[in-house]
Amino acid sequence: MRTMRLLAILTFCTALAASCGTGGTQTTPGPDPPPVVRPTFDQTRAFADLVAQVDFGARTPGSRAHDECKAFLIGRLTTAGARVVTHDFSSTTPLGDGEYDFTNILGVFSEGKGDGVLLLAAHWDSRAKATRDPEPARRIDPVPGANDGASGVSVLLEMARAFTEAAPPRTTIICFFDAEDQGVSGSGLPQSGWAIGSRELAANWPEALPWPDEMILLDLIGGDNVHNAAVGTPTWSNDVFDLPMEPHSLQNAPDLVDRVWTIAERRGHTAFQRRTGTAVSDDHIAFQERGVAAIDIIDFVPPEWDTTHDTPENCDAGSLYQVGDTLLEFVYAE
Ligand SMILES: [Zn+2]
Repeated sequence: MRTMRLLAILTFCTALAASCGTGGTQTTPGPDPPPVVRPTFDQTRAFADLVAQVDFGARTPGSRAHDECKAFLIGRLTTAGARVVTHDFSSTTPLGDGEYDFTNILGVFSEGKGDGVLLLAAHWDSRAKATRDPEPARRIDPVPGANDGASGVSVLLEMARAFTEAAPPRTTIICFFDAEDQGVSGSGLPQSGWAIGSRELAANWPEALPWPDEMILLDLIGGDNVHNAAVGTPTWSNDVFDLPMEPHSLQNAPDLVDRVWTIAERRGHTAFQRRTGTAVSDDHIAFQERGVAAIDIIDFVPPEWDTTHDTPENCDAGSLYQVGDTLLEFVYAE
């Protein structure tokens, strides 16, 4: 039976080849289509996108740099072929006076494809005041936000570009949160006023978007391993780029943490470490509270954190690569 069917197929193919004028030499069925070759992560391009954001100036609430960077991010997601959805809201912040306009920016890829919806996110605002600067006089200046803000966004922009080479196998949303980095401990607000944008978005998710079931958040993933004499080694920093497992992530989504760290280990990305790090009140919390398996990939914290020294010179393209290569492998391996 099997032989007869094969013979029939061979005969059909021979006839087809002959009728198509190919000379009849192609008499066996062709191979299966090749599997999707995943795009590579270009760390040079990602680093250029980090610098491009910092070049606007600090993306603090109400600033011109904030407006310009918003237009830049919407443009980049649009160019990458995403359906872009913006979520506007107004809020006060612990660091500012009065209300500011904020925008969460989302781009949807491979809509309706595969099983489940993956949310990849980072915050795009930068902190209005460098509250941990080593020089007290500079603590009213804004944070340039090269690592804290721009690094995570730059990795996701490079992933969006990669998605133009091969569409992700399942619905994937890239999200840039606003108003993450304006918190003050003890301010009395939910999460002390950190992560305002993600709380607003999780509570008012746009009807036009599918709800995610998994979320990977990137924050502070661009640091270097060079000791910076200007900031020294503060007691709250270990002065190296490393990515231990964040405790809220481990508690909420241990399987997702394991899948990501296993890929990182297989790819030789040694910054990912299988030890428990410091719990962080970040943009993943509001989504965890609503049932999403959500994790935070974060180097908590570099010595330049919340200082005016959070600049591209203190970042490393190789750190962006460790995270970006891991995430691209994750997206296409699933
Ligand atoms: Zn941050």
